[in-house]
Amino acid sequence: MTGYVSLHGAPGEYPRGYTELARGTWAWLEPNGSWGEANAGLVVGDGETLVVDTLWDVRLAAEMLGEAESLVARAPITTAVNTHRDGDHWWGNVALPPDVRIWASDATRAEIDHEPPPRALATLNRLSRLSRHAPGRVGRLASYTADMLGPFAHGRTTPRPPTDGFAREHTLDVGGREVRLLRLGPAHTDGDAVVHVPDAGVVFAGDLLFVGVTPVIWVGPMSHWVTAIDRLLALGAEHYVPGHGPLATRDDLLAQRAYWEWLISASTLQFETGRPPAEVMRRLVDDPGFGRFRDWLAPERLALNVLARHRELTGAGPAQHDPVSRSVMFSHVAELHRVLS
Ligand SMILES: [Zn+2]
Repeated sequence: MTGYVSLHGAPGEYPRGYTELARGTWAWLEPNGSWGEANAGLVVGDGETLVVDTLWDVRLAAEMLGEAESLVARAPITTAVNTHRDGDHWWGNVALPPDVRIWASDATRAEIDHEPPPRALATLNRLSRLSRHAPGRVGRLASYTADMLGPFAHGRTTPRPPTDGFAREHTLDVGGREVRLLRLGPAHTDGDAVVHVPDAGVVFAGDLLFVGVTPVIWVGPMSHWVTAIDRLLALGAEHYVPGHGPLATRDDLLAQRAYWEWLISASTLQFETGRPPAEVMRRLVDDPGFGRFRDWLAPERLALNVLARHRELTGAGPAQHDPVSRSVMFSHVAELHRVLS
């Protein structure tokens, strides 16, 4: 315990802020890695700096960039990378200096064009707070959603999308340092990219990696996430910075790989019997294979992952993010949350 209280009000399990991983290479960690508690990073070269991801709202981004001032005093921020399309990794772009070039994979840029804007989440947050005491499923969904969005200020943000794209790989020169952008998706999202800094032995893995936190798959397929983890391991880095949670060890990568392998096989067995997703979720909670993952934060995200597996097996395509589809998905999450807690 650190004495720090997380954005969601839990005791901080590891220190918040910058950790130097190698000379001029920093991770920004936001304990404990739950909804919207996303990590970021800095790569400081000779006379210029690159930022990896910019958090979920302008206030958090401004704080993260403000804390970086002494680190980048002789190397101003010229470049940023957004690892993927989820708002908790790029809505803070607005706080970057105005002339910064912002990179993302082409697939991420295409997804961003179809994402609901911050003001839609601000509205959802308001409505959820109003209806959180409603009876039954409606109240449970509202309560879960209000808790998820509560710590964040989305209302007045007009998002600032990435300015530059790449297909599968792109190498940047950041003040004489090589920084490799690799798209390893589709998995969590279509465009998932990681940032590899070879001279530091560091990989910023975005949401292809969660540590001590249950991962969520929006696009998939799951088998592709397993492949993505193998590619991360093959990079042989000394430090892996997850999108959420503390710095990863190789065992953390293997644990997440094991989660997907368990879920692929256990859910297939359940769906083969013709059971509907809600029943499969509840049965998987009692599956002995789930035991080792049950203590990760937000284990109820299993609901989203079972729905994703159902879409995979029925050929239904990626998760839709319109308000109705989102409410249906998160209603399953809220119900499973009740079962698990
Ligand atoms: Zn995230």
